[in-house]
Amino acid sequence: MTQDFDTRVIAPGSTIGIMGNGQLGRMAAFCAAELGYKVHVFGPGADSPTEQVCAKATVADYTDLDALRAFAQDVDVVTFEFENVPHDSVKLLSELVPVRPGWKCLHISQNRLREKTFCNEHGIGTAPFEAVRSLADLEAAVAKLGRPSVLKTTELGYDGKGQEKINADTDLAEAWDEMKGAEAILEGFISFEREISVIVARGVQGDTACFCPVENVHTNHILDVTVAPAEIADSLSKKAEDIAIKLVTAMEFVGLLAVEMFVTTDGDILVNEVAPRPHNSGHWTIDACVTSQFEQFIRAVCGLPLGDPAHHSKARMKNLLGDDINDWQAILTEPNAKLHLYGKAEAKPGRKMGHVTWVLPK
Ligand code: AMP
Repeated sequence: MTQDFDTRVIAPGSTIGIMGNGQLGRMAAFCAAELGYKVHVFGPGADSPTEQVCAKATVADYTDLDALRAFAQDVDVVTFEFENVPHDSVKLLSELVPVRPGWKCLHISQNRLREKTFCNEHGIGTAPFEAVRSLADLEAAVAKLGRPSVLKTTELGYDGKGQEKINADTDLAEAWDEMKGAEAILEGFISFEREISVIVARGVQGDTACFCPVENVHTNHILDVTVAPAEIADSLSKKAEDIAIKLVTAMEFVGLLAVEMFVTTDGDILVNEVAPRPHNSGHWTIDACVTSQFEQFIRAVCGLPLGDPAHHSKARMKNLLGDDINDWQAILTEPNAKLHLYGKAEAKPGRKMGHVTWVLPK
């Protein structure tokens, strides 16, 4: 039984269920509280960044169907701060409670092949790609797309995990072994001038609101710095926003979608990947926009009018990874720096412990 939950407004006072309990859920929970909502978070691992700041937590695996049913009973809408929740779990929740964004959008964004195919079907450019399910597929794909190219698992890869660059001297059998039997995608190597992202919200009535494109600088495959807005020509900004709006509209998406793109050296824009949730490259919006990405996320999933995404300041955001968190005292002495820490106990190398946003004159 699928119920028609499509346009229901979830009024303040209701309980928002969030799947995933990391820093994105934590910052979303702050905004939910500001708008008078309670948050019930679902995910594995006690004392999570989200659990620390919300009304209720279910600590369970995403496949625990009994826990999912009980969770659905307790909440008025479900959303995600982690998109790799198994399909069957999302389907079960969808039968019991409004789930925004819906499972079809998650299904597309969980898999790089589906994601790029969807973009291309809607006239949106991506790197050229081939599906790779065996060493023979990889050999054929490399013959077609050339070297360098990039081999990635189609699912569950993030921050450069599950990714191998195929250089002139790369042994293909070794690269294929690194995929550990998982389905993969080979992408042509894009010579990019910079990487940008656009975060767009779409409400239950199909209304959309875009944050301005930002530039993202990665170090060791992990986002290091976001510069907002991206210093690109207005025509490129417009093109990037149009792509993001076209994607959410085509997906009939409700919620917040982050679209990562390459600006190529010949001035084109190609989509790299999408994330159906708040995104690290939108953290600057907390301190420099009329409406933050987290408030916009809550507004969209609850069916409220979308807020104004305009920025009142420019900003530079830097992630605090691992031991970077030890700089917290110095950061607090900088007058234009806003420090955000995620409440994580252990500072492992590369772990996102917090971020700092420098608010800059417009
Ligand atoms: P991803 O996991 O797809 O976000 O990739 C992580 C990073 O690897 C990107 O932010 C790019 O810097 C780089 N990268 C990924 N795919 C490509 C590609 N097809 N061509 C060039 N660089 C890439």
